Amino acid sequence: MTGLFGGAFDPPHNGHVALARAAVERFALERLVVFPTGVAPHKDVRTPGEVRLRLARAAFADVPGAEVSDWELRRGVPSYTLETTRWAGERWGELIFLVGADQFAAFETWYRPEEVLELARLGVATRPGYDRTRLEELRGRLRDPSRVEFFEIEPVAVSSTELRERVARGGSLDGLVPPDVARLIADLGLYRAESSAEAAGTLGETGRG
Ligand code: ATP
Repeated sequence: MTGLFGGAFDPPHNGHVALARAAVERFALERLVVFPTGVAPHKDVRTPGEVRLRLARAAFADVPGAEVSDWELRRGVPSYTLETTRWAGERWGELIFLVGADQFAAFETWYRPEEVLELARLGVATRPGYDRTRLEELRGRLRDPSRVEFFEIEPVAVSSTELRERVARGGSLDGLVPPDVARLIADLGLYRAESSAEAAGTLGETGRG
């Protein structure tokens, strides 16, 4: 089975890597395809796609079976999860689409969620701060709840937003992102308060949909 894992990855962090590692093990994945997501109007992502691609390649380099795909970025338009899973299914067969609990909480707002579930199972990682009862209720409302599996990950209470703010304040990313990611962020001067104006307007981005 092939795992799919999409995100803005602006920047990728240890929570993402923990999810990826746990999923590879839990679902005995042959491969895990990581997708930095393309442009979408409702989320403000200023870091160019090529940069997020480099960061993701550095972040997931040591995860067994992981590869980073530029498919969504190359399309130049926001991709619905439905389109990505359709494309991936033709290529790799059986799929499991991986998300954090926060993404699953909004699953009913995705574009044609039931069709997504026909094309891919959904692997939902439990993330700190989320109440599992609500997630179970949501799963129970689906046509085939058995298509959704929850898996526990060692909690890493970090978000990309918080990391960008931390860098802007001059803080360190040690222990929060893989070392190669920290190095790239420093080398490229990403997320510094003074660089945000330059970076602005380059790209937008997406949640799943
Ligand atoms: P932002 O703070 O910018 O919203 P984020 O840290 O949530 O970003 P995304 O790139 O939007 O990161 O998330 C990609 C995927 O990773 C989503 O499915 C999300 O639920 C999951 N995820 C994000 N942070 C964590 C974490 N700390 N632990 C486990 N999963 C996470």
